[in-house]
Amino acid sequence: MPTGKLVVLTGPSGVGKGTLVKALMARHPQLSLSVSVTTRSPRPGEIDGKDYHFVTPEEFHALIDQDRLLEWAAYAGNSYGTLRQDVVAQVEQGKIVILEIEVIGAQAINQTFPQVQRLFILPPSAQELELRLRGRGSESEAAIAQRLARAIEEVALSKEFDHQIVNDDFERAIQKIEAIIFPPQ
Ligand code: ADP
Ligand code: 5GP
Repeated sequence: MPTGKLVVLTGPSGVGKGTLVKALMARHPQLSLSVSVTTRSPRPGEIDGKDYHFVTPEEFHALIDQDRLLEWAAYAGNSYGTLRQDVVAQVEQGKIVILEIEVIGAQAINQTFPQVQRLFILPPSAQELELRLRGRGSESEAAIAQRLARAIEEVALSKEFDHQIVNDDFERAIQKIEAIIFPPQ
């Protein structure tokens, strides 16, 4: 029976977490990606149950009250959280479960989950982070400003995590992550 574990990828918005996770999932079909719950509205093309479980603020509060979230955080005006049962069940089955979450939630996981590797993804520079966030074209100017301001606070916490990976050259970043998730036996 393989040993399951939880792998947390965190870092500022726009650093490339989603793109890295997508590439990892494509290359390693044995990885499981946890689908988070959010009160944010779906972006064009996002699918309920696949990209996120989209819920109302009332539904989100009910999940907190029922202790059904492994972690949760408010981010840029919305709430995001991880469904506890999904993750626990899959790790117990021996799966490697990936969480792609923001920094406050990632900090909280440390205290609650025994088998966890927490990776902080850093941008090569603040300028490059801004370019990537703008280049994605998914947020308003106000939301970009909010996310960049938060990025400064988040990067200051990077040393608290088990591994720091700079997402400069994409392939190199992927290889570093793979070496952590699949250490040579
Ligand atoms: P996050 O999920 O952290 O918010 P995304 O994965 O959406 O970030 O990436 C933000 C933008 O940066 C996307 O347009 C993506 O294509 C681009 N990007 C990701 N990694 C790199 C990289 N290593 N070099 C250049 N651009 C990148
Ligand atoms: P976005 O709105 O761009 O999809 O996500 C905003 C931020 O919320 C990103 O940094 C993303 O990683 C984070 N996020 C997504 N799901 C969760 C979650 O379940 N918990 C926490 N804490 N953050 C999440």
